[in-house]
Amino acid sequence: MDFLRPASWEEALAAKAEHPTAVPIAGGTDVMVEINFDHRRPEYLLDLNRIGELSEWEVGRRSVRLGASVPYSAIMEHLRTELPGLALASHTVASPQIRNRGGVGGNLGTASPAGDAHPALLAAGCEVEAESVRGTRLIPIDAFYTGVKRNALEPDELIRAVHIRKADGPQQYSKVGTRNAMVIAVCAFGIALHPETRTVRTGIGSAAPTPVRAKEAEEFLNAALEEGGFWENGKIITPAIAKQFAALASGACNPIDDVRGTAKYRRHAVGIMARRTLGWTWEQYRGAGRTLEGAA
Ligand SMILES: Cc1cc2nc3c(=O)[nH]c(=O)nc-3n(C[C@H](O)[C@H](O)[C@H](O)COP(=O)(O)OP(=O)(O)OC[C@H]3O[C@@H](n4cnc5c(N)ncnc54)[C@H](O)[C@@H]3O)c2cc1C
Repeated sequence: MDFLRPASWEEALAAKAEHPTAVPIAGGTDVMVEINFDHRRPEYLLDLNRIGELSEWEVGRRSVRLGASVPYSAIMEHLRTELPGLALASHTVASPQIRNRGGVGGNLGTASPAGDAHPALLAAGCEVEAESVRGTRLIPIDAFYTGVKRNALEPDELIRAVHIRKADGPQQYSKVGTRNAMVIAVCAFGIALHPETRTVRTGIGSAAPTPVRAKEAEEFLNAALEEGGFWENGKIITPAIAKQFAALASGACNPIDDVRGTAKYRRHAVGIMARRTLGWTWEQYRGAGRTLEGAA
């Protein structure tokens, strides 16, 4: 196995163009497991760790440009206000050691349906900045996950950054696992209220071949909130609306039975998480959240 160590982003793109089968390695918390277990034996490893800009972020007016290798621990420490859903999801990833190494670029690269960043990214809304020597493109997150552990990257492309919409309202993340830490999700649910556009977005993890949004649930809820004037009057969401939202979220799942849980359990748990996280975020919105810009 050859180890390529580009010193700059341009060198990394050139190396990927020359060796499209080269496997990028950032934190290595997925790649090294695969190599150690002999699940993967790439001809080339492309080490991205000398490229400092991948571990940096910029907070813009409407979005955060998060470098692909920014570790979860930095998101938790520095971006809690701008990206609350992703910060909450980051808290649930593995252990401090893994959170210091692993990042969103690696989670997207692996594209496991159980990756914790995905539901938060889907709910917030974001675009993946993919680049090759041919140029740059922004891939909407809804188009990024193409199959089980598959993504929309071309063989010569690398992820440079992720452009994530800054929170304009409350966000939540909920995960079911067999214990509290160091656990891969049995299933997970992310929700983001967007008072500016009067919409709610969701993300479901580990309950379908890819991370997915519960689109019917979103459409139902958006219509119900609009019809009842909930965004203006801040009324408590009725149990009937919450129940239907949960049922539709549950229906968006297409899970399998595996060692971590049954399909039936996953569907059930996603419904429960959808109802709870809606309750939590709506309570936040009715309180402090409703003073947010655009919600008046
Ligand atoms: C003990 C343990 C516990 C874990 N627990 C969790 C958990 O609770 N939740 C969770 O979501 N994950 C968990 N993981 C998995 C892993 O930590 C995450 O997926 C993490 O986000 C991977 O990031 P990384 O930088 O280490 O990726 P790497 O291992 O370096 O790379 C992962 C994949 O992404 C590709 N890649 C990396 N960077 C780029 C780039 N810039 N452009 C294109 N492709 C790229 C790599 O080629 C590879 O295919 C765990 C792993 C371990 C070892």
